[in-house]
Amino acid sequence: MRLLKERILRDGEVRQGNVLKVDKFLNHQCDIRLFNEIGQELRARFPQEITKILTIEASGIGIACIAGQYFDVPVVFAKKGRHSNQDEHLYRATVHSYTYNKDYEITVSQEFIGSQDRVLIIDDFLANGKAVEGLLDILCQAGAALVGVGIVIEKGFQDGGKKLRERGIDLQSLAIIDKMDEKQIVFRE
Ligand code: 5GP
Repeated sequence: MRLLKERILRDGEVRQGNVLKVDKFLNHQCDIRLFNEIGQELRARFPQEITKILTIEASGIGIACIAGQYFDVPVVFAKKGRHSNQDEHLYRATVHSYTYNKDYEITVSQEFIGSQDRVLIIDDFLANGKAVEGLLDILCQAGAALVGVGIVIEKGFQDGGKKLRERGIDLQSLAIIDKMDEKQIVFRE
């Protein structure tokens, strides 16, 4: 996606620990025009029947909601952290955070995803694939069908994408970075 790659080159900042900061347009300040382009591109790449979009809080929510307009389906986001209301019927999974290097729990109410659903997972970044794996765990508990995974920025030098593709999952990343340092960002063709 040319517009996205240009924006990453213009406004992305490579930080220590292989972290790409995109706060100017994706993770803090949100460029809604770009989000709309992302939503349309994801719809074009996933033309199949989809009944729900699933993402993870916080940074996936904005992208998934804008994309949700093009799919015309509800967007469900997995909540992070433990929830005191133990009576609630929840799917639960554990995720290792790449950016904070710690484990956290994600939960989704059983009310919002079930065995009748055909789900598209959307997230902002794919690094080692732990966030997506947690969401896949929840879909498995729900007995829902996975249609595919749509990612805005995949860091192709980490192994999350490889692992998901090897499982036969339809993974569509709108920009794949093969190499990055303070001086350059190299995209996969
Ligand atoms: P994974 O679970 O695939 O290892 O990492 C993906 C999650 O970590 C995403 O949900 C994203 O929030 C965060 N993340 C991973 N790498 C980066 C990065 O380079 N920049 C930013 N801004 N977030 C990242």
